[in-house]
Amino acid sequence: MPFNPVKLFKTILICAGMLAGTLSYGQSGSTFTKLKTVVIDPGHGGYDAGCISKNGKYKEKNIALSVSLKLGALIKEKYPEVKVLYTRSTDKFVELGERAAIANRNKADLFISIHVNSTKSTQASGTETWVMGTHKSESNFELCKAENSVIKLENDYESKYEGFDPNSPESYIIFSLLQNTHLEQSLQLAGHIQKHFGKGPIYTNRGVKQGGLLVLWKTTMPSVLVEIGFLSNPKDYNILINKEKQNQIAGRIFNAFQSYKEDYESGGKTGTESAGTAVGNTPPAIAPRTDAGREDNSGAFFSIQILSVNKILANNAPDLKGRKDYTYIKVGNLYKYCVGKYNSRQEAAKNLPDVRKTFPGAFVIQIKDGKIVK
Ligand SMILES: [Zn+2]
Repeated sequence: MPFNPVKLFKTILICAGMLAGTLSYGQSGSTFTKLKTVVIDPGHGGYDAGCISKNGKYKEKNIALSVSLKLGALIKEKYPEVKVLYTRSTDKFVELGERAAIANRNKADLFISIHVNSTKSTQASGTETWVMGTHKSESNFELCKAENSVIKLENDYESKYEGFDPNSPESYIIFSLLQNTHLEQSLQLAGHIQKHFGKGPIYTNRGVKQGGLLVLWKTTMPSVLVEIGFLSNPKDYNILINKEKQNQIAGRIFNAFQSYKEDYESGGKTGTESAGTAVGNTPPAIAPRTDAGREDNSGAFFSIQILSVNKILANNAPDLKGRKDYTYIKVGNLYKYCVGKYNSRQEAAKNLPDVRKTFPGAFVIQIKDGKIVK
C-alpha cells in the first residue's frame, strides 16, 4: 500500500497516548522506582537464520539465542525479583512487530535485542549498540535495511508495517517524525553496554548508533539492539562461536544492565553526555519555589526530567500527558523536558515517585545556569 508518513505519525501519537494512559492507571508511586521486568529479544529464529558464517556452520539466530539465554540466567541469578522474559527461548520465527508487542504487553521496563553483525568484507570487527532514531550515514542505513528486511519473511508485511519498505529511503522518513520518549534512557543503557564491552572479549568499540530499526520502533520502554560482533570477521568469528566467550559477552551486557538498574533505582543517573546550550523556556516556565520565602540565588537547583525528545513539543502534545508546568533545556540536538524546582536532591527524590506515576522513566537532574550539571 502507498506509504503515508503523516497518517502513520498521527497513528503513533494516538497509540503512544493510549499506552501512556493504560500504564499510569492503578500504579502506586513506589512501584515505578524498581526495575521489574526486562524483555530479552534473541534476533531472528526459525526459518530466519540471520547472517550465516562463510563455512555455513554457524548462524546468527543460534548465537543470539545462546547469548540471550546466558544474559537472562545472569539477571535471574543476581536479581531473582526481576522478571526476565524472552521473545523466544527456542529456535522459532517471531515477527518483528510481535517482539515489541511482547514487551509492551508485559509492561517491560527494558528491551534488549541481541544480534550478530556481518559484512561482505572480512575486515569489519567489533561491537555496536543501536537505539531508535534516524540513521546519519550510509553504513548505518545498510544495517537497518539488513535487520528490517526480515519482515519480508512475514505474511502480509505491507499492511502490518503500514506500507513500510525496508529498502526504500523514503520509508525511513517516518523515523525523523518519531517522538522517542525513551531516547535518553536507551542511550544511557547503550552507553553502559559499549563501555563494558571495552573489557572484551571483542575489543573494538564501534560505538552507540541510531537508526530506524523496526524491532525497536513500537516498544514503549527504553530499548536497544546490540550487535555483539561480526560473524564475517575471522577473529570475531572464533570468539562468537565459543561457548565460554559467549558467557563473557553475556556478562558484559549483564554488567551494563546492572549499572543501568542502579542508576534507574536511585532516581538519578551517572551522566554520559555533555551538557549543552540552554534554550529558553516554553511558557509557563518552572514556577520558582519559595519554601524559604525567597529563591536560592546561586542559580543551581534540582528538577525531575520527564522526557527527552528531538524537537520542541506542542503544549498539548500527548507525550506531555497533560502537564503544563514544564520547562525544557536543549542539550545537543535533544530537548530535555523537566518539572519541578527543588533546593536539594533529596527534596526532588521525594517527589519523584509521584512524577513516575505518569512518567515511569523520570529521574532527578541538577540544573545550573540553565544547563544540566553532569
Ligand atoms: Zn540480526
